[in-house]
This record gives sequence, C-alpha cells and structure tokens, in this order.
Amino acid sequence: MITIAERLQKLPPYLFVDIRQKMQAAQARGVDVISLGIGDPDIPTPDSVVESLTHAIQNPKDPDRHRYGCDSPVDDFPQAVCDFYQHRYGVPLSDDQVAITLGSKDAIVKLALGILNPGDIGIAASPGYPTYNIGHVFASATTYYAPILRKNNFYVDFDAIPDEIKRLAKVLWINYPNNPTTATADLDFFQRAVEFGRQNNILIAHDNAYSENTYDGYRSPSILQVDGAAEVAVEFFSLSKAFNMTGWRLGFVVGNPTAVNAVKTVKDNIDNGSLRALQFAGAKALSITDEITPPINAVYQRRRDMVVDALTDSGWDIEKPKATIYIWAPVPQRFNGSSRAFATALLEEVGVVVTPGLGYGQWSEGYFRISLTYPDSVIDEAISRIRDFAH
Ligand SMILES: *Cc1c(COP(=O)(O)O)cnc(C)c1O
Repeated sequence: MITIAERLQKLPPYLFVDIRQKMQAAQARGVDVISLGIGDPDIPTPDSVVESLTHAIQNPKDPDRHRYGCDSPVDDFPQAVCDFYQHRYGVPLSDDQVAITLGSKDAIVKLALGILNPGDIGIAASPGYPTYNIGHVFASATTYYAPILRKNNFYVDFDAIPDEIKRLAKVLWINYPNNPTTATADLDFFQRAVEFGRQNNILIAHDNAYSENTYDGYRSPSILQVDGAAEVAVEFFSLSKAFNMTGWRLGFVVGNPTAVNAVKTVKDNIDNGSLRALQFAGAKALSITDEITPPINAVYQRRRDMVVDALTDSGWDIEKPKATIYIWAPVPQRFNGSSRAFATALLEEVGVVVTPGLGYGQWSEGYFRISLTYPDSVIDEAISRIRDFAH
C-alpha cells in the first residue's frame, strides 16, 4: 500500500479548498454564488511587461532563452532589484544580498528548509499568512504563534514572547502591510523587530508582498531601511500583488547574506531558476514601477471606498485601510464572534463567499476578509447582498 509522509498529514487543510467545496455545494443547490474570497488580481499584467516577456521569448539573438534560468541567469533582474531598492527605499544592496525566487510562497518554504533543523522553533505573527507554518512543518520544525492584536496596533508584542521561545527560535515571520488585517508598520516597529532579532539571534523574515499596494499617498517602508538590518533580517518581495503577476511566479529575497545564500542553495537543488524571458520582464516591471502601480492602485482604492462606505452605512465599524487588497471586518454580533458561522450563513443564504478569519489562526476569530480583486460589478452586487443579509 502506498502511504503519504507524516509531514503531509500534519498540514492544516488548505483554507481555500474548504471554501471551494462549500461553494460547489451551494451552487449544486441552485444558489447563484459570487466570491470575494481569494486575493488574486483580476486586473491584467501591464502591457509593457507582457511585451517585454514576448519580446524576450521570441528573441532569436538570445540562444539561451529556453534554458534553465539558474545556468544562464539574467543579470538585468538582480540589477533591477538593486536599483529598485535604492530608488524606492534608499537602501543599497550588494550582489550577495539578492536571490531571485519563484514568488514568495515558494521562497518562504525554501528559507525554512535552508535555516531550520528538525525540532527548531519558528515564530509566526498571527493572524498571518499560513505558509510560514507550512515551511516549519516541511522543515520538521515547530511554530510558536505570536499574536498581533488590534490593541497593539497589530504589532508583535516582543515582551510577551516567553524566554524559552526566544532561546530556541531561529526565525520570526512578520508581514506589513499585513494580510489579512491590512495593518501597516512604521520604521520604529521595524527598528524594534531588528533589535529583537539581534538580541536573540533570531532571523527576522519580513514578507513585503503588499508594499506597492498602497492608497491615499501612503508609502510603505522596508525593514532594510533600519540601520544594520541586514545583519539579522531578510525581506521577501513579490511581483504578484504589486504588478498583477501572480501566475508568473516571480519575486526575490534580499538582506542577510547567510539567509539569502541558504535560499539560493535550496533553489539550486530544487527549482533550477526562472525562465529567462520571465526574468527580463520582471526587470522591466521593477524599472517602471512608478508608471505602472498608480493605475492599478487607483482601481483598488475605488473598490476599497465602495466596500467600506457601504459597510459603514450599514453600521459596520471599519477604517479605510491604507494598504493591501483586502478589507478586514468584524462579523456581525448575532454570530457571537464565529467567523465560520458567519461565512457559512452568508454563502448559504445570499451566495457570497468571504474568507473567515479563523483560517488565519485563532487570533483572527471574529473577523472576515473581503478581497478587492474582483470586478466592480461583482463587488457591487456582493456588497448589496451582504447589507441585506446583515440587516
Ligand atoms: C500572496 C501572498 C504571498 C505570495 O505571493 P507569491 O509571490 O505569489 O507567492 C506571500 N505573502 C503574503 C502575505 C501574501 O498575501
């Protein structure tokens, strides 16, 4: 008999599979289901980036265009990463501080495999992206969840982390602008995170997936802006949400050379790098960020206002987020704080899919997440159904 590994048995169920099953069941009963569940941009990748890809893949002058990305790397991409960090954050990066990745989800797990031994502890801010824990599980390490709570600005409360955990932990995962809470961080918090890492020999892994999805003129900082941050910190950047490139699988990790090199070593042994044409296009996207992000963010900002204004009108207490592509809202009182009960009832009664907070850990119970990555007409319809339902 064929059996699966224990590590797969230890994985929590993938949140969106459960939601997809419930959606299909409701559809089978004849409910007209619309979803605001998944954070996967509906707006297409900017034309100039797509053109750069098609040009590169068709370029007869590049005899290596079909080859393994790792064997014939595109120097333009790491160079574009360095230029981007300099221009965007005023942070200079050296060659040994940059690794190109197949998106951040993949790179997060590869960093875990590259730095954790069996039995080690990793600290994951919670609520948070489930992949941090999954990286730990694949590396046979254990997750300690550090709650990020509204009363603390959704920051990690470093003093509340037990000494034993500080001693045993090798990595702390944080993410600002944050999925799912939409919280942002200032440099002062990043400074404290770096200090915590330095004092306890813990790598601070900052997942910067939403740094370019910002509104009302807000600019999100990089943890590498903190003096000496690269001694203990790495930052994951993804082209996915910034430039509507989720399917392209492109990102990079920058900062601490030991950690960056650990990711490179795992990559060399597993993925063989990204297609060259993708790397040329990635470099292009980074070089024209200032041009391509404003129109993308204008769409999300408009949708954000549609959702928050409508929910506020019906008595919801939510602030307009400065960043991310989500709205994070408390479940109505009659559900006694159960996000699963709310999400299930919303789906079954009015056919709207939202993501229950519980999927992001126990500390996000009582909330649900709406994603703004759906056309305005879908958002409009969903919001009017939510209003009717909540009344
Ligand atoms: C979407 C997302 C990612 C993954 O992005 P990819 O680069 O597409 O793998 C990572 N972290 C967070 C918090 C995300 O929401």
